[in-house]
Amino acid sequence: MQGQMMQQPLLISNLIVHAERHHAGREVVSRRVEGDIHRSTYKELASRSRRMANALAALGVGFGDRVATLAWNGYRHMELYYAVSGSGAVLHTVNPRLHPDQIVYIADHAEDKVLCFDMTFLPLIQAVARRTRTIKHFVAMTDRAHMPAPEVAATIPNLLCYEDLVAAQDDRFEWPNFDENTASSLCYTSGTTGNPKGVLYSHRSTLLHTFAIVMPDALSCSERDVILPVVPMFHVNAWGLPYAGCMTGAKMVFPGPGLDGKSLYELFESEGVTLSAGVPTVWQGLLAHVEANNLKFSTMKRTVIGGSACPPAMIRAFGEKLGVHVLHAWGMTEMSPLGTCCTFKAKHAGLGQEERYAVMAKQGRVVYGVDMKIVDDQGAEMAWGSETSGDLYVRGPWIIGSYFKDEGGNPLIDGWFPTGDVARIDADGYMQITDRSKDVIKSGGEWIGSIDLENIAMAHPAVAMAACIAAKHPKWDERPLLVVVKKPGAQVTREELLAFFEGKIAKWWTPDDVTFVEAIPLGATGKMQKNKLREQFKDYHLPTA
Ligand code: ADP
Repeated sequence: MQGQMMQQPLLISNLIVHAERHHAGREVVSRRVEGDIHRSTYKELASRSRRMANALAALGVGFGDRVATLAWNGYRHMELYYAVSGSGAVLHTVNPRLHPDQIVYIADHAEDKVLCFDMTFLPLIQAVARRTRTIKHFVAMTDRAHMPAPEVAATIPNLLCYEDLVAAQDDRFEWPNFDENTASSLCYTSGTTGNPKGVLYSHRSTLLHTFAIVMPDALSCSERDVILPVVPMFHVNAWGLPYAGCMTGAKMVFPGPGLDGKSLYELFESEGVTLSAGVPTVWQGLLAHVEANNLKFSTMKRTVIGGSACPPAMIRAFGEKLGVHVLHAWGMTEMSPLGTCCTFKAKHAGLGQEERYAVMAKQGRVVYGVDMKIVDDQGAEMAWGSETSGDLYVRGPWIIGSYFKDEGGNPLIDGWFPTGDVARIDADGYMQITDRSKDVIKSGGEWIGSIDLENIAMAHPAVAMAACIAAKHPKWDERPLLVVVKKPGAQVTREELLAFFEGKIAKWWTPDDVTFVEAIPLGATGKMQKNKLREQFKDYHLPTA
């Protein structure tokens, strides 16, 4: 017997229709590439998305065609989120920090038809435009007054102006109805090894993920929130926040290109931001600015930190000095991205502050919809509640089934997606990442968790950034080498740092050496590139060797 409820597909266009109808006047505020602060509302955003949907149709973009963006977080980018996916085309958000060769590769692989870009990326567009094979139109996301000079414009084939396109169209557009399993957007993984692979989300997976992330035990978003996603809209759809905004009616604030501590702080304060999200490296800049100028947040209550392990020292700095609660979260491009989020359970109510911080350092428990397990080298499921780590596998309705164009073959093992992360899960179901499998340090056949070591180093007041990598050792195969960037003006010696580990971990986990560097290479999404460090230190001679 079938249920007898309405059949309504879960479509991304439903979100913008809802926001316009129920939260019309709620604001969408953006720092623009043009330099000013732009104010808009969900009503205007919905209307302009429909105009843009008409414009895309007029450009010949059809059902399932790919439309790429190279853009910061801003209202025009959000309009494209709805105009493109809502009309049945696929939004391909390209990471502008990738190498131009990689951008050409993924634009060709995705067979993008149109590419919309912020003016910041004009030089990049000039470098790649004539090398890409399928893009028919390049759209500069600006108005006529800010368009490039004719001689520059002539270097880009079929260059159009976003505001001209919007102005030329009627705002009447009927969002089409179609199967909720239709592809909606496409993100490529940064491809630290091999070519980038495409993750193709559907309307259904995106809507289910949005329902999940706004729940109280996840990011807990509501109409009363003012959300500023620092995480870029080209990094796994800004972790779903542009969809969560429309679903809840929260005010949205977009930082545009202003990702330095000062610009972010100004926007947090002037717009009354209550919730933000980003990777740890961005928060370092903000914390440094806030501390150096003795500032406080007047409205910000929570910030989501994920993308790489959030050092416990950062959780404390936010909590103790600024009264901001850090929500440690974990996920990946292949997971839309949210998998776990660290919120407390009822049993934690009586805990002291130190014990609460110990819980908050973990990546947390699954949001409903995601299931996870850890397995040993033979693929057998391991019990929860021990100190032993295993390979982390996940499954759920917003987790990848196969890569775009089946690149790399079937990624699943018995219906589970192996994340490539190594983790332990405690008896309460709180997961803690100890490493990425490719970053694991294997000493005498035993694993040493590099993240644990980095977290300890980051708690030292003189350390700005720390990476722990495997260095070759004649007896133990590999031993940990700590690579450290000092804070400006700070002094610390190798011996002092090594002594700092005493009593905090098993003695044999202590790094064999410390080396100081000017900078640690960061990848396109702001994560430490340990593969580059391993290459740099591949002939490093440990004093213990
Ligand atoms: P890439 O960095 O390859 O572009 P993602 O942005 O999808 O891809 O990164 C996913 C990976 O980032 C995870 O598999 C995990 O290794 C790491 N990661 C994400 N969040 C956390 C976290 N809170 N703690 C530790 N590692 C994390």
